[in-house]
Amino acid sequence: MTSNPEGFRITEGEDKLVTYRFNTKTAEHHFCSICGIHTHHKRRSNPNQLGVNVACLEGVSPFDFEAVIVHDGQRHPSDNPEHRTYRAGVLRFEPSPGG
Ligand SMILES: [Zn+2]
Repeated sequence: MTSNPEGFRITEGEDKLVTYRFNTKTAEHHFCSICGIHTHHKRRSNPNQLGVNVACLEGVSPFDFEAVIVHDGQRHPSDNPEHRTYRAGVLRFEPSPGG
């Protein structure tokens, strides 16, 4: 899920987050220093947007989404002259029958 930085607020645990930057250092990936979950990142393709892990949002579950488009990060739009986004596939969360 994407958000503008103005529409995003950490309600608890901000002191437990750590930040990782690599390659172009544009994207900032934030992780929980206790359990390691990726919580959110500043997007490399649009640094004015955040990519947010919906599993970290109160009241939202990955199972709430029927299908999620996965972009090919190895062919990032900032790395090709057309700034084209390539689709790697679709991710589906399916609850186990009977729980
Ligand atoms: Zn954690």
